[in-house]
Amino acid sequence: MFSNRTPWSPSSWQSMSQRQLPHYQDDAALQQVLARIQSYPRLVAISEIRRLTSRMARVAHGRGFILQGGDCAESFSDFCPKIIRQHYHLLQQMAAMIGAASHQPVVRIGRIAGQYAKPRSSAMECVAGQELPSYRGDMINGAEFQEQARQTDPLRMETAYFKAAGSLNYLRSLNSEANASRAGSYFTSHEALLLPYEQSMLEQDAMGNWYCGSGHFLWIGERTRALDGAHVEFLRGVCNPIGVKLGPTVSREELIRLIDVLNPFNEAGRLTLIVRNGAAHIDRLPKLLEAIQLEGREVLWMCDPMHGNGIQTADGIKTRDFASIQAELNGFLDAHRKIGTHPGGVHLELTGLNVSECLGGPSKVSEADLATGYLSACDPRLNPEQAMALTATLVNQLGL
Ligand code: PEP
Ligand code: MN
Repeated sequence: MFSNRTPWSPSSWQSMSQRQLPHYQDDAALQQVLARIQSYPRLVAISEIRRLTSRMARVAHGRGFILQGGDCAESFSDFCPKIIRQHYHLLQQMAAMIGAASHQPVVRIGRIAGQYAKPRSSAMECVAGQELPSYRGDMINGAEFQEQARQTDPLRMETAYFKAAGSLNYLRSLNSEANASRAGSYFTSHEALLLPYEQSMLEQDAMGNWYCGSGHFLWIGERTRALDGAHVEFLRGVCNPIGVKLGPTVSREELIRLIDVLNPFNEAGRLTLIVRNGAAHIDRLPKLLEAIQLEGREVLWMCDPMHGNGIQTADGIKTRDFASIQAELNGFLDAHRKIGTHPGGVHLELTGLNVSECLGGPSKVSEADLATGYLSACDPRLNPEQAMALTATLVNQLGL
């Protein structure tokens, strides 16, 4: 079960194959920014990270549920109390519904306070004959389709640090207020994509173990989970609870090798597998569940019913149909029921704002509605009504 890799160090990822990492023109400017960020306080405490690992271990053993959600790409301009508050309240409402039905603890993990860097399928974007580098999240470049905005700028990392800190401060105050009426635990998460930034947020405990203080839970995306890749190398060495997104092409052998590297001591709570097969391929899940169960691997299974269900309208707008999202979630729950494993949680792209970005749902959002209520800088999110309807499906299907 042990991996035979060379020793890990904070910078060992730098000699591995690098995917989805931006190029910065001015290396001296980049190093200055990173040195400053490294000197700042970490955003989350090691004790909080450890508490989340133990909560996740309980869920991995079948007690409780993880509710993870937020924007696809957090934007700097959404750093305002109303948007953060509505995000917080939506997750709270969803968790309350699941908790009331299950009488089990629901651990909320916001996809927030750091979700500022995005992997992209293509390096360039073409609009009306003009080609520019793709938008990679506000901590890397700007979303506006304009030459200057699309240049990488290392100073954006420092802005991201401060906006994450401000968001987290506000979330902590909302949660301490809510905890007077027992709201339970709230943690933060993001995709650990921009490794120079993540490296600058490392911290060691008294025993010499490394933690990444940029957020509580960090995950590796579908595009960066290669075994020989920098992202797997970086995250294998930090003691945070971590996740890996898994698309429909992952094989049993590949997954076991990934688990060997990312959870060599087979610790419960350490590793979450976030399945995002798409409704059309969720029937591949039972075999994988069975294989991992037979191997005796301690993992927590989560369902991301968003990323395998992307479609484009005739006008070229990226969207997702609520019915496919619901179908994938149902397939995920069915698979666990069949194999006898625990469906540990859901990972959703959602917002507390009343957007129309995903089709369907209770209000039957139509293609025409996308033109008026589409605010996402990246992937389409569930609005509160769609998110609550999906939570109702979950509660019903869990047999609660
Ligand atoms: C995401 O979570 O926004 C994302 C890009 O997911 P995936 O890695 O599953 O495609
Ligand atoms: Mn996304």
